[in-house]
Amino acid sequence: MEGDLRGRSAEAREKRRDAASSAAIIIIFLLVALTHLLVLSSHFGATDPLIWWQQRAYAADGGPGGNAVAPDRLLSPDLEDNNPAACLSRHEASRRWKPTRFPMPPYLVERLRWYEANHRRCGPRTALYRDAVSRLRSAARNADHAAAGDHHHTCKYVVWIPTEGLGNRMLSLVSTFLYALLTDRILLVHEPPEMEGLFCEPFPGTTWLLPPADFPHKLDAATFSSRSKESYINMLHNNIIRYGYGDDARAQVLPAYVYLHLETVFLLTASVKLRLQNHTFCDEDHHLINKFDWMVVKSDNYFAVALFMMPMYRRELDRMFRAKGAVFHHLGRYLLRPGNRVWGMVDRFFEGYLAGADERLGMHVRNKQIFPVPPEIMFEQILRCAREHHLLPQVLATSEPPTAEAKKKKKNKAVAVLMLSLKPEYHDKLHAMYYTNATVAGDVVVSVHQPSHDGEQQSDARAHNERALAEIYLLSFCDRMVTTGWSTFGYVAQALAGIRPWMLLPVNRSKMRADVACVRPPSVEPCTHPQPLLLTCQ
Ligand code: GDP
Repeated sequence: MEGDLRGRSAEAREKRRDAASSAAIIIIFLLVALTHLLVLSSHFGATDPLIWWQQRAYAADGGPGGNAVAPDRLLSPDLEDNNPAACLSRHEASRRWKPTRFPMPPYLVERLRWYEANHRRCGPRTALYRDAVSRLRSAARNADHAAAGDHHHTCKYVVWIPTEGLGNRMLSLVSTFLYALLTDRILLVHEPPEMEGLFCEPFPGTTWLLPPADFPHKLDAATFSSRSKESYINMLHNNIIRYGYGDDARAQVLPAYVYLHLETVFLLTASVKLRLQNHTFCDEDHHLINKFDWMVVKSDNYFAVALFMMPMYRRELDRMFRAKGAVFHHLGRYLLRPGNRVWGMVDRFFEGYLAGADERLGMHVRNKQIFPVPPEIMFEQILRCAREHHLLPQVLATSEPPTAEAKKKKKNKAVAVLMLSLKPEYHDKLHAMYYTNATVAGDVVVSVHQPSHDGEQQSDARAHNERALAEIYLLSFCDRMVTTGWSTFGYVAQALAGIRPWMLLPVNRSKMRADVACVRPPSVEPCTHPQPLLLTCQ
């Protein structure tokens, strides 16, 4: 018995040893498999395993309300992004957008990678940048490198100054970046307090923020105007610079920087005029402007359009953008990803109110102070546009419950309307309409949601701008959209989405009614205000 017991306990010990070694083998196998998985994941560009797992999960189930697409590797410089948590939207926004109709041109990707490398070479905290700043601040100005003939070891910069509302800022920032790409300048951004952390750093391994103390003048929108003595036009008129400067010693007399003033001017006589006046977008002027190492741009508009009209940039632009109608679509998605605070708002709202719907219709209603329209007239126009283009189901003119027959029909479609506006009334009216009345067909449920209604534009308040950016992105995630003509807020959303909206037209003020409720623009590109009447060049 005892021998038997001893025999059995030896057998049991043997079994335990076997089990332990099998467990060890399994653990080792799992560890090896996990390591392979991580190596593989970094090959596919997701340097953070968490992000990789997230992507797999989303790809498997299409993400909550999203498309089953992995983040766009070509667009995002993730491969070199060793801290993906710093900008979640870079990894997560792509699965919210509908699949794009506009493939990223390979040459543009090449140019972006080249730009990133150049920005790392010349950006803040580099020796070349310190040299450039000391030239900017010192009396030597452009003389040193011009005298040394040292064009390869210097860098050129374009400083972007924000002005006006967020939509205007995003349009002018993308235009300035396109200009930087074309002219091999480094884009540096002045970030006032109301824009702090609004956007992620776009270029890996460096910063696009200009340390304000590095610039010789106070950097804010008020410092720069059409009257600035550094304005290119003023310098030209005052004979401070002249056409025909060669690469010779005369370049030494160039002032420290040049300012390009590209703002929309509102004139009572001519209503609105874009300041694309003579000498701002002519080849001969740009040959001269290109001689400055430093330039400052302040603009409230999408001046990228004007660059396409200049012979000197046309060849490069043709290579970068085969589809001319998708310039902002590519560059905006690349450059302007919301920072994590804003992304948190976007994500929470999308998950909470929009993800579960079968279809999302976004609307942005902008009732501008300069031409106010009574809300009921605006609302009538919205409904007319929705009815004429079958964007929303019609409702019964009664609050009676639906008929037994309609009730039998399965409720098989949920439509979420994202209603954006500074005012609550459009949301309230539409919400009341679908709350009170059944739909005619009875098989669609419509819910209406508005994230915020701040009342007035407050572009110098950070929290306000964060809400605006969150809403621009939410709008861009919708399947279809209705926007208001003359509003850059909507232009940015449509271009990010790559979707042509239905655009509400301005009312005819004599009738207080828009004859045509809404139209679809020919492309997803932002409109320019107004058509640039170009330009008398030499
Ligand atoms: P535009 O003036 O219509 O061309 O558009 P901008 O975006 O340049 O300026 C309007 C500003 O008003 C926005 O940037 C926001 O600050 C604010 N705004 C206008 N509509 C909305 C809206 O629907 N939601 C939020 N949160 N802000 C809005």
